[in-house]
Amino acid sequence: MAIERTLSIIKPDATRRNLTGKINALIESGGLRIVAQRRIRMTHDIAGKFYGVHRERSFFGSLCEFMCSGPVVVQVLEGENAILRYREIMGATNPANAAPGTIRAQFAESIEANSVHGSDSPENAATEVSFFFGEVDIVG
Ligand code: ADP
Ligand code: MG
Repeated sequence: MAIERTLSIIKPDATRRNLTGKINALIESGGLRIVAQRRIRMTHDIAGKFYGVHRERSFFGSLCEFMCSGPVVVQVLEGENAILRYREIMGATNPANAAPGTIRAQFAESIEANSVHGSDSPENAATEVSFFFGEVDIVG
């Protein structure tokens, strides 16, 4: 199995409810290591660039508004098959479909305010990690 890195974002609905520590505990107990972490407030420009692949989707404007509505925690997670593994720890996009015990099943408020982001492929993970972090910021 390969050691991978993936980008995680703890979204504004979760930071608002002071859930950063509880989410980090699920990440760590799920076997992933938090090797970089920063709390930021996204601007519309940053949110729009980050979610650029969703530009044509009906929810794009609302999603960008939501991502700017409070602080977020951007993180790099490392571990065996980290990209797929984190998607499992997160659960399905819609919390109504998320498996019990997943972050989204436990904490998400809605399909939009679903507490966390995780990269969905090796290509996107590389792009998304370098969107927020330089190599010197990541300490494995
Ligand atoms: P995921 O975050 O599970 O990879 P997507 O990449 O499809 O999901 O969507 C990105 C984000 O856009 C979701 O995490 C969620 O915040 C929001 N989103 C997705 N689908 C919808 C929807 N139908 N209505 C509102 N927001 C949505
Ligand atoms: Mg996605």
